[in-house]
Amino acid sequence: MDCLFCKIINGEIPSTKVYEDEFVFAFKDISPIAPVHDLIVPKTHICCANKITAENSEYIAKIFEAVPKIAQSENLETYRIINNCGEDAGQSVMHLHFHLVGGVKMGWGKESLGKTE
Ligand code: 5GP
Ligand code: ZN
Repeated sequence: MDCLFCKIINGEIPSTKVYEDEFVFAFKDISPIAPVHDLIVPKTHICCANKITAENSEYIAKIFEAVPKIAQSENLETYRIINNCGEDAGQSVMHLHFHLVGGVKMGWGKESLGKTE
């Protein structure tokens, strides 16, 4: 399958790994929007949050079990987890991923949606 994040997981495309276990791979975003910006992905191809099912949700549980470990390794006590699902929500890589961003004080409200219109 021609998927960028599948290629990163199998090492075909290099990345800066921050965490790995049987179910989960996490690496530095190539274009960070915050001092810490990691991408956490399942080691199976799920295109987006809309395709999470009872059959694959173990990967999601494992991702969220990994979150505190990754945050600790990044020295983050406070952070935000973001998932963009679908093109209009800003998803550009069609392999489910969670952005872990931190290291900066973040606002919350209408403006934080980054609306384009
Ligand atoms: P999305 O826009 O789909 O929610 O997030 C995709 C993310 O993948 C973006 O933040 C983008 O910077 C990151 N990204 C795209 N291509 C690469 C790459 O080749 N390597 C890494 N490490 N990150 C990438
Ligand atoms: Zn994939």
